[in-house]
Amino acid sequence: MRVGVLGAGQLGQMLAVAGRRLGIELRFLAPDPLSPAGMRAELIVAEYENEAALAHFVDGLDFATYEFESIPASALRSVAERIVVRPSVRALEIAQDRANEKECFERLGIPTPRSVVADSLREARAGLEMVGLPAMLKTRRLGYDGKGQSVIRQNSDLERGWVTVAGAPSLVEAFIPFTRELSIIAVRSADGEVAFYPLVENHHSEGILRFSLAPAPGVAPSVQSRAEDFAKRLLDDLEYVGVLAIEFFETPDGLLANEMAPRVHNTGHWTIEGADTSQFENHLRAVTGMHLGSTEVHGVCGMVNVIGQEPDVGRLREIPDVHVHMYGKTPAPRRKLGHITVVAADLEGVRNAVAKVRAVLARK
Ligand code: AMP
Repeated sequence: MRVGVLGAGQLGQMLAVAGRRLGIELRFLAPDPLSPAGMRAELIVAEYENEAALAHFVDGLDFATYEFESIPASALRSVAERIVVRPSVRALEIAQDRANEKECFERLGIPTPRSVVADSLREARAGLEMVGLPAMLKTRRLGYDGKGQSVIRQNSDLERGWVTVAGAPSLVEAFIPFTRELSIIAVRSADGEVAFYPLVENHHSEGILRFSLAPAPGVAPSVQSRAEDFAKRLLDDLEYVGVLAIEFFETPDGLLANEMAPRVHNTGHWTIEGADTSQFENHLRAVTGMHLGSTEVHGVCGMVNVIGQEPDVGRLREIPDVHVHMYGKTPAPRRKLGHITVVAADLEGVRNAVAKVRAVLARK
């Protein structure tokens, strides 16, 4: 069995590892010759829209998928003309544009922060009046890890914010004073079977995910089932096949969907050690038409992202119950270079081990 993947970052690298266990060979296409997935599988180095390269890419494949949201939809469409692509091009197109995503959430009755589309500074001003202060200004497309967004605390922040988003088509969105951020990793098979991992608690700083705790502590069963219900509505409506992640804000009034990702997700990395079947394996199972694996979780997991600087891996490995994943990327500020998962019997065990991991990362 051969699966082609557009995009070849660390998500692809972890898909390749999961694929090997399932006897599935992966082939990647991405423009950067140093792409992390290229260390674990065949990598075709080409721009996504290079038609000759795409033809070479699909040759001999059984299925195709993607691990990067910003691939041009036209490239995916071109692949989909020749071979089954899962998740669908439509799922990608919705997730690529925050306005489409919001419209999809609203259509399916999934609560989401109020927002107004703004294609000009004048429209942003009008949007701000409707949404009220404080607010977030976010580009509709190509925003990730906090890029392309700006907090608007007072009216006079808007002009600076408009420069931050470089005048690109944007959304003015209500600022949500959330209690915490949660996400759900869901998966749907080609037969319509669905499975969910427990909600994960996520901590960001400067717009980048730093730490996840799974299962999120103190989640009422009604909140978990509500998140699953929202995910199921999306999965069924999009006739989705593969892993889908949804990020939520938890508020005293319930969950608000912030965004979705039509791919395996950073807040699901803990599933490699923490669940019966990892998100990567379940994605490949779904894409290749297999039954899903169990999403049962054992113990509690903490996942710490390694960002910007190479850590002392030797010292990290000395900490009990710690699993180090380095992606082989060149260090750069704000770049995700790896992640560390801690698995323990209880929350206290996770907190203790995570404190030790953080001390090593902080070079103390
Ligand atoms: P996003 O790119 O939409 O995931 O935003 C990155 C991070 O910015 C989120 O994880 C939140 O921490 C924060 N953020 C985004 N939108 C809002 C909002 N409407 N209200 C408050 N914080 C937000």
